Amino acid sequence: MLYYVIPRGNLIEIIDFHIHLVRRDLLNPTTIELIRNVNPDFYHKMDDFGTDPLLTVNYLRSQGVEYAVMLPDDSPATAGSIPTEAVIEYCRGQEILIPFANINPNIHYEPAQKLESYVKEHGAKGLKLYPSYQFFYPNEARLYPIYAKAQELDIPVIFHIGSSAFRGTRMKYCDPICLDDVAVDFPNLKIIMAHSGRGFWYDKCFFLSRFHKNLYMDITGLPPRRLLSYFPELDRNGEKVVFGSDWPAVPATIRENAEQIQSLPLSTSTIEGILYRNAERILFGS
Ligand SMILES: [Zn+2]
Repeated sequence: MLYYVIPRGNLIEIIDFHIHLVRRDLLNPTTIELIRNVNPDFYHKMDDFGTDPLLTVNYLRSQGVEYAVMLPDDSPATAGSIPTEAVIEYCRGQEILIPFANINPNIHYEPAQKLESYVKEHGAKGLKLYPSYQFFYPNEARLYPIYAKAQELDIPVIFHIGSSAFRGTRMKYCDPICLDDVAVDFPNLKIIMAHSGRGFWYDKCFFLSRFHKNLYMDITGLPPRRLLSYFPELDRNGEKVVFGSDWPAVPATIRENAEQIQSLPLSTSTIEGILYRNAERILFGS
């Protein structure tokens, strides 16, 4: 077994499980404003990055990122509408970029069939769902055909679980306890909790992830230096945690965040797992 987190010079190899396509013409003004505040450098190049995938690819490579999961977000009432089609088009031919689909159950017709088409005909490698942006509870019966399809297709499903700065989001929808039902009813579905309950659900997410073999944590958007105060026993769940940056909505660089994680008092296997191997297993089954 080859382990990939080998420093090359001072570069660490990373799989980033959580980046976004940002387009000024598709996102709501408050979302664009947020990007401007969080990452002013990117904001000034946003229109170039939005149309030229090579800029993103080169940036990711400069950060030591070997693969990055790129997420659509079709949430017109909150963040804006980056449809799956735009992400698939952007990632086409760029091996480093792994496109996921987004299904909005309040908008899309026959969502399970739509997911199947995104995966089989357009090459999506997973699904992202946004309960608090799109207003549904993850354990509603109407979502179950989507999970059944994802399980059949053997693709991972990421849920936004935690706070968000976007105007109009409603946190009640992403209480992690709703995923308890989903994890039980779809035991072979790989479920990832993006943001790991950011705000006040860290304990719940940690416990549920330890409890269910198919439930993972994504530490996107959590300051690495605070990680062990949120999850004091992180090492006990080292095989179930993946790294994500939320780029470009991130103040530090991806590499800085990864280096901070590397410097935490965690076992080598946990650090390698978070930065690369756990994501590799989820995405590629290796
Ligand atoms: Zn995000």
